[in-house]
Amino acid sequence: MSGYVIDVPKVNSLPVKGEDRRFPVRRVYCIGRNYAAHAIEMGHDPDREAPFFFQKNPDNLDPSGEFPYPAHSSDVHFEAELAVALGSGGHNIPVERALEHVYGYALALDMTRRDLQGVAKKMGRPWEIGKAFERSAPVGPIHPASVTGHLSEGRVRLQVNGEIRQDGNLNQMIWKVPEMIAYLSEYFELAAGDVILSGTPAGVGAVARGDVMRIEIEGLGAMDVSVV
Ligand code: MN
Repeated sequence: MSGYVIDVPKVNSLPVKGEDRRFPVRRVYCIGRNYAAHAIEMGHDPDREAPFFFQKNPDNLDPSGEFPYPAHSSDVHFEAELAVALGSGGHNIPVERALEHVYGYALALDMTRRDLQGVAKKMGRPWEIGKAFERSAPVGPIHPASVTGHLSEGRVRLQVNGEIRQDGNLNQMIWKVPEMIAYLSEYFELAAGDVILSGTPAGVGAVARGDVMRIEIEGLGAMDVSVV
């Protein structure tokens, strides 16, 4: 007797460090090529051209610590990223006020079916098939900014089976967190529950079933994600 003709889809939510209550996810925006060394390794010019974004689905964010190897790919890559969780939003947010909208930060992996993304790029098609598949964004708990402060520098590392593969610093972002929020808010109405994945440093690479990825960001600790 809910007033809906089908069951209401579940709202995906993430744990919050030090809280019993959870963070509900509304939208997920991801920036492309936001670290110069990664832009170069992907064959692009690292100059500061306008940023570009793609989206994942809210239910792709997965705090379980397991990443099921997806179908139809034999080249699934990790991308270690800082996730930014918004506690409020709006339109045309000025850069200098953007951080007021950040609720907190989390560790995230932008897992990518690189082979399918490559075909999409070559054919001028959208990227969802390479980026927005089931459980494609393992994430850690959200750390409230009221506890961590705002993160603009600090080491970002990714290890696979104990071997360091990505080792960058948040201060290498081409577009900083406040700039990303301001830019997105010119094109979309941002709101509480939105999550922004802020790009990955150089060193992306493939994983296989049985691998354990460990992402670490200074200030947020570390998280292990098993490829199953
Ligand atoms: Mn990415």
